[in-house]
Amino acid sequence: MAEYKLKGLSCANCARELQEAIQKLENGQNAKVLYNSGKLIVDEQVNMKKVEKILASDGAFIVNKTDNGDPNRLTRTESHNHSHGHDHVHEHTNQKLKVLLSLATTVFILTIIFENNLPPSIAIGSFLFATAISGYTTFLKGLKNLTQFKFNIDTLMTIALIGAFSIGEWKEGTLVAILFGLNEYLEGLGMEKARKSMEELLKVAPKEATILDNGLEKIVPVGSLQKGQIVLVRSGEKIPSDGVILDGRSSVNEAAITGESLPVEKKVNDTVLGGSINNEGLLKVEITKAYEDSSLAKILHLVEDAQETKTPKELFIDRFAKYYTPLIIVIAILVMTVPPLLFNSEWGVWFYQGLAVLIVGCPCALILSSPIALVSGITRNARNGILVKGGVFLEQLGKIETIAFDKTGTLTKGEPHVLEVKQYDELFLSIAGSLEKSSSHPIAKAIMKKIMAESVPITDPEQLQTNSGQGIVGVINGQKYWAGNESNIGHINFTDKIQNDIHLLKEKGYTIVIVADKEKVLGIFGIADEIREESQQVIKNLYDVGIKQTVMLTGDHQKTAEKVAAEVGVTTYYSNLLPEEKVTKIKELTKTKHVAMVGDGINDAPALATADLGIAMGKGTDSAIETADIVLMQDHLGKLPEAIRLSKRVNKIIAFNISLALGLKIIALLLAIPGWLTLWIAILSDMGATILVTLISLTILIGQGQEKRNVTT
Ligand code: ADP
Ligand code: MG
Repeated sequence: MAEYKLKGLSCANCARELQEAIQKLENGQNAKVLYNSGKLIVDEQVNMKKVEKILASDGAFIVNKTDNGDPNRLTRTESHNHSHGHDHVHEHTNQKLKVLLSLATTVFILTIIFENNLPPSIAIGSFLFATAISGYTTFLKGLKNLTQFKFNIDTLMTIALIGAFSIGEWKEGTLVAILFGLNEYLEGLGMEKARKSMEELLKVAPKEATILDNGLEKIVPVGSLQKGQIVLVRSGEKIPSDGVILDGRSSVNEAAITGESLPVEKKVNDTVLGGSINNEGLLKVEITKAYEDSSLAKILHLVEDAQETKTPKELFIDRFAKYYTPLIIVIAILVMTVPPLLFNSEWGVWFYQGLAVLIVGCPCALILSSPIALVSGITRNARNGILVKGGVFLEQLGKIETIAFDKTGTLTKGEPHVLEVKQYDELFLSIAGSLEKSSSHPIAKAIMKKIMAESVPITDPEQLQTNSGQGIVGVINGQKYWAGNESNIGHINFTDKIQNDIHLLKEKGYTIVIVADKEKVLGIFGIADEIREESQQVIKNLYDVGIKQTVMLTGDHQKTAEKVAAEVGVTTYYSNLLPEEKVTKIKELTKTKHVAMVGDGINDAPALATADLGIAMGKGTDSAIETADIVLMQDHLGKLPEAIRLSKRVNKIIAFNISLALGLKIIALLLAIPGWLTLWIAILSDMGATILVTLISLTILIGQGQEKRNVTT
């Protein structure tokens, strides 16, 4: 498949029609015309000459080919930048439209004012002139459609225009043309605004890097950066890709990736993210990820793709529009013919009513009701460091009633420490270290930190097996050993002393890891993880934005669970859960409620996938970020309530837009029954709906920055 950047698509509905036309070509059946991002995706085998001809019928054209097959995201970002020249071309088209429209409107108004003083031929001439300059593209497209018996909005408007002129309604006819020009202008403007703001986001991508090659500085494109290369980043420059600081210290602005505007202090051995800005010192950074694997490239990829997934509501409207236009034409014909034929009413009167119905039929406002709002919502969230992977998920987020949290790494910091050690055997630490050294679980990390401080011998186990959510079993020097919670040590009957120790550690709220051989317990670790400072406030804010229930799911024992739940304010908790039991719990919850699951990803991916909405912590594992529908780039939950508030607002705006668009049409259609509908009412209701829907959707983009500091400690 090849991907092309398009310009000049006039409306969402037209894009759908172009897509259908291209799909009819040989090898074209999988072609996609994406309105939101202005893209054409089509099989390489398709005859591009024919495709271009189809595109031209809507005034659209190919700007350039973007390399979609190439996994290197840079080519896409680059082509984005290259296309800026063409953006101006497009801006010019919109600019031209604006000038012509203003001129047409002025001529129109002046002619109405002086109509009585002008000879009729001059007045009519002026109206025709205004019509020609504002509506000629629509008119030409419509005429062509008419000859091909294709009925879409342009056809509708063209019939209305011809009809109005044929009965001498010059003013109304002209206004129809102006209205159509205005519709086209606003639609272009609204989508362009939302898209601009998305492109603004994409601009944060760094373009070049200064590498140190044998002590020599060399400037290379970021796309060519490789793992292990050393780059220099001067103050004010962007860090080209994810890496580790080898030399220098500075404060770094990570807002592009995390949405957090406060600078972060960085020193030697700290990790830095590509796309963040070096505020002060000179930094020498070792690149740990090629640009295409960096967090930033992933974000840009996600956000770009997010524009295209359609929500069920959008799909419905798309499908709806297909039957809607022909239906309106049928209704208009009925209105024109039934009363004169059956009730002997005057033909002229009902012909006029039928024309008005045609104009009311323009579904532009309806089609525009959700895409601008969704793209604006996704963009606004992305600016806050919250990646929503598509319109559907934004819509879903606004409906969530219950949120389930994983404990470790989500509500707590996920950086536990060993606080108490009970040793019963001299082999204890050495065995524990050998078992845990290759585990990535935060608990294992805590144990290793403790053990590294002691000087005990650690060996590689001959065999090692992880029991997810329980612990580890391994063979060391021919002997089998266990480390984990009680369910992982099922083969031993604990002595009274050990049982008492376990009880005491649990009472303190510690997570316990018991280390044992075949017959006896060697020792126990008491481990605790700090609760994130913002957790309590976040839970409170979640209730404030309308979440009904919060639930904590953990593999840890009941005492710790109770303690953490009470401290952060989560109302329900389930403890001692294996990963698959977390999935079962989520399934149970989703039966009656809309449930989101938030996790950091260490064995949470299945639960994230099961919930109606999976939310992953950005610093979690790749698998969780891939499974999740929403990714929080900041390493805490602080922005989640705001994202929910925003998505609720987006949902409300879409619902309002749809009812406004439909409501105005229904009222206008009802007016047609007693014969009160005038062309004026029809035109103004449609114009009003389109303008309102566009403006209301764009308000989502306004007010940025306000929420930035709402939810901190
Ligand atoms: P959570 O639900 O809090 O994220 P997990 O499901 O990851 O917890 O783990 C549950 C329990 O299993 C831990 O509290 C610990 O007792 C035990 N456990 C998990 N992984 C390990 C490990 N690598 N070593 C020892 N014990 C472990
Ligand atoms: Mg976990």
